[in-house]
Amino acid sequence: MLLNHSQSIMEKQTENLTTETAKKYDYLIVGAGLYGACFAYMARKRGKKCLVIDKREHAGGNLYCENIEGINVHKYGAHIFHTSDKAVWEFVTSLVEFNNYINSPVANYKGKLYNLPFNMNTFHALWGVVTPQEAMDKIAGQRAAAGTSEPQNLEQQAISLVGEDIYRILIKDYTEKQWGRKCTELPPSIIKRLPVRFTYDNNYFNDIYQGIPVGGYNRLFDKLLEGADLRLNCDFFAHRQELENIADKILYTGAIDQFYDYRFGKLEYRTVSFEQEVLDTDNYQGVAVMNYTDAETPYTRIIEHKHFEFGKQPKTVISREYSSEWKDDSEPYYPVNNERNNSIYLKYKELADKESSVIFGGRLAEYKYYDMHHIVAQVLNHKEF
Ligand code: UDP
Repeated sequence: MLLNHSQSIMEKQTENLTTETAKKYDYLIVGAGLYGACFAYMARKRGKKCLVIDKREHAGGNLYCENIEGINVHKYGAHIFHTSDKAVWEFVTSLVEFNNYINSPVANYKGKLYNLPFNMNTFHALWGVVTPQEAMDKIAGQRAAAGTSEPQNLEQQAISLVGEDIYRILIKDYTEKQWGRKCTELPPSIIKRLPVRFTYDNNYFNDIYQGIPVGGYNRLFDKLLEGADLRLNCDFFAHRQELENIADKILYTGAIDQFYDYRFGKLEYRTVSFEQEVLDTDNYQGVAVMNYTDAETPYTRIIEHKHFEFGKQPKTVISREYSSEWKDDSEPYYPVNNERNNSIYLKYKELADKESSVIFGGRLAEYKYYDMHHIVAQVLNHKEF
C-alpha cells in the first residue's frame, strides 16, 4: 500500500529540481521516518504544505515493514510501540488500529533460558528464590560485596540494580556485543532503560499502553504522510542548494554532523545488520524476541516476526541481529553517547540553535537514543504547532 502511494507521487517527480526552486512549500522535511512523518501530519493539519524527502526507496524510516510470506517483517529491527502518554496513544490509535502485543523477550545464555526484563521469574530460575524479599536480599548481598555506591559506569550501575550474577549472565556479554565497548566504558543510563521488578511479570515495558499496528507500521506512515508530497530516492546532500530554497523552513532529521559537513569531527554510531531467513516451519522459537546473552554467539538476538502479530502463516521469517561500529556506507542506528561524542555533539548543537529556518529533530539530529513514543510526543508538543 505504501509503495503504491509513494509510486504515484514519485511519478510526478522530475530528476531536475530547478523548476521547483521558487519557495513553494512551507516545510521541506528531510527524512520520512517517524519524526518527519509526524511533523508532516501536524503541519498539514494546520494547512501547511510539505515536501518530504528520503534517500531510501521507501518511507517509514527504520519502522518500515516488508511483507514476506504474509508476515510483516521489521526490516530495520523490531519496533514495539509503548507509552504512558495518553495523548500519544490516542494520536497513534486514531490513525491505525493497534494489536495487544506485549513484549516478553526471553534471554538465552548457553542454552539456558531466562525471562526478561529482570523479574521474579528470572530470580527464581537463577537462585531458586520464591519470594520478593528473598530476591531483594540476594541482590543486596551481591551489591554490598561489589561495594558500589554511586555508579559511574554501566557495570557498576547493573551490579547495583541486579547483582553480580545477573550482570555476568544476562548483561555483560550482551551489552559488550551490542555496543562494542567494555561495560566499564559505557554510561549507566543505557541500562537504566531496563525495568527491574519484584513481581512475576514478564512484560518488558512499564508503560500503560503497548502494541503494534495491525498489518504493520507501513499503514501508520500511509496515514501520517497523506496529503504531503513525498520524494523518495532523494538525497538531501546531493541536491542541497536547490532544496534549501524550496521551502520557508526545513525540518532536518538526518545526522547533525553531516549537516555541518563534519566540521567538528564525526559522531560515532552503532549499526545493526540482519541475517534474514525464511524457514519452512510455522514456529521457530515460540517468541518474537530471543536475546543471546553469551559472548560466543555472534548475534545479539533472533527476531521471529510473525509473533508480533500472532501470525498463523505456514512459514516463518527470522532475523539474526548483528551489531557493529557504524561506517560511512552503513545505517547509523544507536548514538554512542560517551563523553567524546557528547562534547562534539554540543558543538554542532550550538550551531543548530542559531539556525532560524532549520529545525532539527529525532535520534540522528539530536544524537539521542529515543523510543518511538518520545518522538511522537515531541512532535505533538512542538512549538511550531
Ligand atoms: N540489555 C542487556 N541484556 C539483555 C537486554 C538488554 O544487558 O538481554 C542491556 C543492553 O545494554 C542494552 C540495554 O539493556 O543496550 C537496552 O536494551 P533494550 O532492549 O532496551 O535495547 P534496544 O531494544 O533499544 O536495542
